[in-house]
Amino acid sequence: MVIQRGMLGLSARPPKKTKGKTVSGGKRLSSSSAAGQTWLKLSVNTHREDKRKLWDPPKTDWHPSSLGEVCDRKSLLKMMGYRGDPVSQKLSRIFDMGKIIEKLWQDDFQKMGILLSKNVRLLDPGPPSINGEYDVMIRHPFEPTRKLLGEIKSINDRGFKALPPLTLDPETNYRGIMETTGDIGARIRGYMVQFQNYLRLTKMEEGFILFDNKNTQEYSDYLLGYHPELMDECQARMMRLDPYRPAMIIPPCTCKGQHKSLCLYRTQEEVPLVEMQKFSEDAII
Ligand SMILES: [Zn+2]
Repeated sequence: MVIQRGMLGLSARPPKKTKGKTVSGGKRLSSSSAAGQTWLKLSVNTHREDKRKLWDPPKTDWHPSSLGEVCDRKSLLKMMGYRGDPVSQKLSRIFDMGKIIEKLWQDDFQKMGILLSKNVRLLDPGPPSINGEYDVMIRHPFEPTRKLLGEIKSINDRGFKALPPLTLDPETNYRGIMETTGDIGARIRGYMVQFQNYLRLTKMEEGFILFDNKNTQEYSDYLLGYHPELMDECQARMMRLDPYRPAMIIPPCTCKGQHKSLCLYRTQEEVPLVEMQKFSEDAII
């Protein structure tokens, strides 16, 4: 479709010169390198350009989402403020869409009269100290004395189809999520660790992780109970990794076979933070 001036109710503007190409509001660009590019895409890309630094200052608390990360090095890099590759404008829009889906659910729970709280920050002084925020707390629609903690995740169609079968039994749901293999398995186990930490910090016994298929708007809500044994494992791991922070050391990589980014550098060794920072900055082309 050829975009015409005024189609979106926007006023006609004179053509704008951008890097030697004329971007008009009325014609497709003929250059193959600019195929599909429009004045709106150009301006949105600039608006959403990730201009943040490669490293933020080190954090002082664990975030429950990083506790589900399987690689010790990646967990510590996040804690030490490493931001990873710049976020593309497409990915930043995907993140924002996830927040909008979460808000849709919160609004529905509110209208249904079952929302008890949303986006509540949880602080555990530790050690190790944790700082996180749960999505929703609701009361059961048919059993008003039951309270449930909810975590809402948006997921694409491929991931949604790879989720384990949804059952009414919390134990079967838990095993299904913990035993799922592949990329999606690692991701949803991470969500489980995050969710179980929220149950622990709120002293609640049950809740759900809801996966919303952002391609089809189908959803699966997995009812889940509290699993203290998973939290014992998580606590032991945090206690093992916690001393790396004050020592300003990055631990060896433990994500076998998935070595990317800073996991590639002296993979099996402990590396001083300053050395890792220098490597990451030198690695940028
Ligand atoms: Zn790794």
